[in-house]
Amino acid sequence: MQKKTVRDEDVSGKRVLVRVDFNVPMDQSGTIEDDTRIRACLPTITYLIDHQARVILCSHLGRPHGRVDEHLRLGPVGRRLSELVQRPVEVLREAVGPGVVRAVSEMQDGDLVLLENLRFYPGEEENDPVFARALASLADLFVNDAFGASHRAHASVVGLAAHLPCVAGLLMEKEIEQMSGLLEDPARPFAAVMGGAKVGEKIGILKNILPKVDLVLVGGGMAATFLKGRGVDVGISPVESDRMALIGTIMQEAETLGARVLLPEDLVVAGSLEAGANARVVSAGQIPADCMIADIGPLTIAAFTKELETCRTVAWNGPMGVFEIPQFSNGTTSIAQVLAGLNATTVIGGGSTAEAVTQLGLAGRMTHVSTGGGASLQFLSGKVLPGIAVLADRETHH
Ligand code: ADP
Ligand code: MG
Repeated sequence: MQKKTVRDEDVSGKRVLVRVDFNVPMDQSGTIEDDTRIRACLPTITYLIDHQARVILCSHLGRPHGRVDEHLRLGPVGRRLSELVQRPVEVLREAVGPGVVRAVSEMQDGDLVLLENLRFYPGEEENDPVFARALASLADLFVNDAFGASHRAHASVVGLAAHLPCVAGLLMEKEIEQMSGLLEDPARPFAAVMGGAKVGEKIGILKNILPKVDLVLVGGGMAATFLKGRGVDVGISPVESDRMALIGTIMQEAETLGARVLLPEDLVVAGSLEAGANARVVSAGQIPADCMIADIGPLTIAAFTKELETCRTVAWNGPMGVFEIPQFSNGTTSIAQVLAGLNATTVIGGGSTAEAVTQLGLAGRMTHVSTGGGASLQFLSGKVLPGIAVLADRETHH
């Protein structure tokens, strides 16, 4: 990787401010429902502790919009982290100010401090230079391990870079390596599996990845717009008419590039997307006028499986159906199981897709499950993420 990482720095005795993404799902009583994002940062945190750094962690949680929200304090996150690293974590009730300065000045090498939710301060999302400077004044080095926040130009993501040397954490490094591996030199055949609700959100990836892939498998709600583009009647499925021309262009481009684009040949359809809705399997040409697409059908699962079994790289972004509802979850579950069994590089991007794979207990059997939904989307679309752009390059010296 051309970006510097925490391994390139001498951190011993230094105050290291680490931006992490501890934006975990938490209920009103402060119970953490899934601690994947905390666990994902443990390699960086333990590396820093083992190398005698003074570790100051900072994160956002939820959307408090610049005000204190008692339900979004990071206390419960700090307690879970403490259990995971098996050492004390001092959780502060502020992110900047004299109290924080004092707490940091009392730290010993190897100590861990967690600042309060950054989004309690309007300066965070506004990338206010005064807020960024206040944060930066706490530390000697900035480590960004929050891949999931790196598409946002916030104070703790980009603002800090004006004041401190900044390098990638180990999770950030892994994310960048896995994502750029897909775009740079993927083992072939290489398939992109695309799904989810909206074409609009995924079209950027499709355009960018098309020249690299051999195959695109399309499922999810977005299949409706693709099918409609081929003249198939999709009943009451939502269609993004304004994207149809673009899809046509992409299909032509795919043909020129020799990439095959496979659409579902059969579908699970229903009158609505609610649990208990009357569902049935129909072939793609036979969608009833009063029904909408809810999942890919068994023939499609079989066809996609056959293709995926020949692949050496698979990127998956977007569920194959409304997997939150059991009767529409077959497509997503089946594709996840197929990927888990492949002897191939399998990279999962997208928040819902990662959630589905994790719920199925298959995350550990994938090469990589990205911790960044929006960030992975933008990365695979070929965009330069602001939080990655500000990381020091290997050759650069501060
Ligand atoms: P990701 O977060 O992995 O990028 P998206 O945000 O694009 O994925 O889409 C996830 C959502 O897409 C899920 O909530 C899922 O229920 C929905 N979805 C999948 N298939 C359909 C469908 N046929 N109709 C409506 N929604 C769908
Ligand atoms: Mg999503």
